[in-house]
Amino acid sequence: AFEYAPAPESRSIVDIKPSYGLFINGEFVDGHGKSFKTISPSTEEVLAEVAEADEADVDAAVKAARKAYDKVWSKMPGRERAKYLYRIARIIQERSRELAVLESIDNGKPIKESRDVDVPIVAAHFFYYAGWADKLEYAGRGSDPQPLGVAGQIIPWNFPLLMLAWKIAPALACGNTVVLKPAETTPLTALLFAEICQQADLPPGVVNIITGAGGTGQALVGHPGIDKVAFTGSTDVGKAIARTVAGTDKKVTLELGGKAANIVFDDAPLDQAVEGIVTGIFFNQGHVCCAGSRLLVQESIADELLAKLKRRMSTLRIGDPLDKNTDIGAINSAEQLARIRELSDVGEAEGAGRWSPPCDLPAHGFWFPPTLFTDVTQAHRIAREEIFGPVLSVLTFRTPSEAVEKANNTPYGLSAGVWTEKGSLILHMANQLRAGVVWANTFNKFDPTSPFGGFKESGYGREGGRHGLEAYLR
Ligand code: NAD
Repeated sequence: AFEYAPAPESRSIVDIKPSYGLFINGEFVDGHGKSFKTISPSTEEVLAEVAEADEADVDAAVKAARKAYDKVWSKMPGRERAKYLYRIARIIQERSRELAVLESIDNGKPIKESRDVDVPIVAAHFFYYAGWADKLEYAGRGSDPQPLGVAGQIIPWNFPLLMLAWKIAPALACGNTVVLKPAETTPLTALLFAEICQQADLPPGVVNIITGAGGTGQALVGHPGIDKVAFTGSTDVGKAIARTVAGTDKKVTLELGGKAANIVFDDAPLDQAVEGIVTGIFFNQGHVCCAGSRLLVQESIADELLAKLKRRMSTLRIGDPLDKNTDIGAINSAEQLARIRELSDVGEAEGAGRWSPPCDLPAHGFWFPPTLFTDVTQAHRIAREEIFGPVLSVLTFRTPSEAVEKANNTPYGLSAGVWTEKGSLILHMANQLRAGVVWANTFNKFDPTSPFGGFKESGYGREGGRHGLEAYLR
């Protein structure tokens, strides 16, 4: 039990409208289709009614993006495009409190994360790619790179604004126009971003935001008028998208699931490693594609490390996302909570030892306590499947080669973490691990200058850094 401290970023600074239309050609318009409700996962309160774009709406958005591409955006010199991106970045900074509060309300994530991590990195992405807009000759392999055209972009609910920034900033910098679909459980900050585009006087049609669920996404991917699909989400949907675009000339990048190993060697500074393990799996309720969901700990220090980890987990505060002291917010949806519960029950049934610190969960909303599974083997489903929640599976190893073998024993390959004082071991592990990102003595660090993306079934293509531009240029 603990005291709630009201955050200065309170609910009252956001203006949530009762209903939202689609953002097409620079204006909010009514959709032709049905609508759906977005709720606050921490209270289950209905926040707003949001339009569900149907095929005709998707077509209108793609046509608006095409016209803006042909007539304005692809013709504009890079340094002019940069001015718009800088303007958007500055407005994001000016409206950062509003963006952070709305993100925490709609997604359930703690305000200290949306305020101190998500929104600042969102602004940083727009600043970073604004800087590239007039330097594209250095971006790729050719000396005169051209934009691809209209990009259809589909994002998940775990980092609604950050995924939007990863998609929109490089696309626009390169001269593409976009139609972006946020996830159906978290549409509100993308719609606030649409307002920011208006405020920045972005030419109509350069950014279009269409809300809806999987059907809207399918209509976007299948639309003949798009030249590029950028998708972040589950591996199953990613595979379906790859099948849909096979045989067309649409370019595709896929950022999919993960089951990252966070590997702690016996010489690691253990208190620092414990912080990294906690960040690795409990940041954003574990709704992180690159979450360190498998802890691989060297056998000789396993007991000591687990004791420290349990002590640290007992200090985590779970509750109101708008409380600035909250460490773990709400699970994003009832469906996701059901999946986390199911897989955790499977873990127990398969014989792993389950532990959570005592915690008071709020009466309403979707909540799951930080959870640890010990005595996990590689055969257990909790060691193989992405849980996408605050659930850590602990395995042990004796030698670096055993750690590599276990870490790579997964269909995924998005990220990994290595904790050791030995630089040579870090380099050895980084070379051996089949993961797009390997963090050393840290975890879940993101920066616009660094490429991010997966190996194997975690997808293909890179976002971020100079490499992120290649995905939007020919
Ligand atoms: P999801 O695949 O169900 O949904 C992602 C998006 O795709 C949503 O906007 C959804 O409406 C849309 N969609 C669903 N079905 C579709 C279809 N048939 N065609 C087109 N679009 C469709 O995934 P989710 O549950 O929203 O997100 C969780 C998953 O995303 C996890 O597996 C996680 O690992 C992954 N993820 C990956 C990254 C990364 O960078 N690799 C980042 C965040 C999340």
